[in-house]
Amino acid sequence: MKKTAMTISYELWGKLYLNITNKCPCACTFCLRQNDDGAYGSDPLWLEHQPTLEEVLANLKTRDLSSYEEIIFCGYGEPTSELDILLETAKYIRSVCDTPIRLNTNGLANLIHGRKTEPDFKGLIDTVSISLNASESEAYMAITRPKWKDKDCFAELLSFAKDMKQYVPNVVLTVVDVIGEEEIAKSQKVADSVGVKLRVRPLES
Ligand code: SF4
Repeated sequence: MKKTAMTISYELWGKLYLNITNKCPCACTFCLRQNDDGAYGSDPLWLEHQPTLEEVLANLKTRDLSSYEEIIFCGYGEPTSELDILLETAKYIRSVCDTPIRLNTNGLANLIHGRKTEPDFKGLIDTVSISLNASESEAYMAITRPKWKDKDCFAELLSFAKDMKQYVPNVVLTVVDVIGEEEIAKSQKVADSVGVKLRVRPLES
């Protein structure tokens, strides 16, 4: 049975991670949510209910936001599923400290909301880290299992990455190191094709 708690924020490695929603349009085969209740010893990240903006801000007001190396929208869900809460929370963080803000995302916000969302992030986020997961569409769909079977989600993700460069200083595509050297080389070409960096990260980070 899933353990739940209102773990809206949690600390790891000197950084503050924000868990603002459990909603996600994907069901990635590797997602921590498939097998666990928390991340690296955190309290359970299954939220008892969808937090309101007021609940998120009340949680952040209990912390010294300037004391962290970075503040990261991440958690057990896709943060852009709750775009208004994400943006308003980022505005609040900006208003009280200079701590860099990162968004970890599946890059499918435009499909979630049915419009171009990239301009919404202008001035609010320092780094957008988008999970590429694979070097081509078919493998991407098999790994991430998004709910839109009839859409080219891989192309949507790449378009999001490319257009985000206009609004966010640092845009990164990520893959995990276990995919192997050949896939990593192909992923690098994909990142080059949209003019963003590729980060190869260990599976457990
Ligand atoms: S996009 Fe992220 S939260 Fe959603 S299923 Fe994949 S890894 Fe999990």
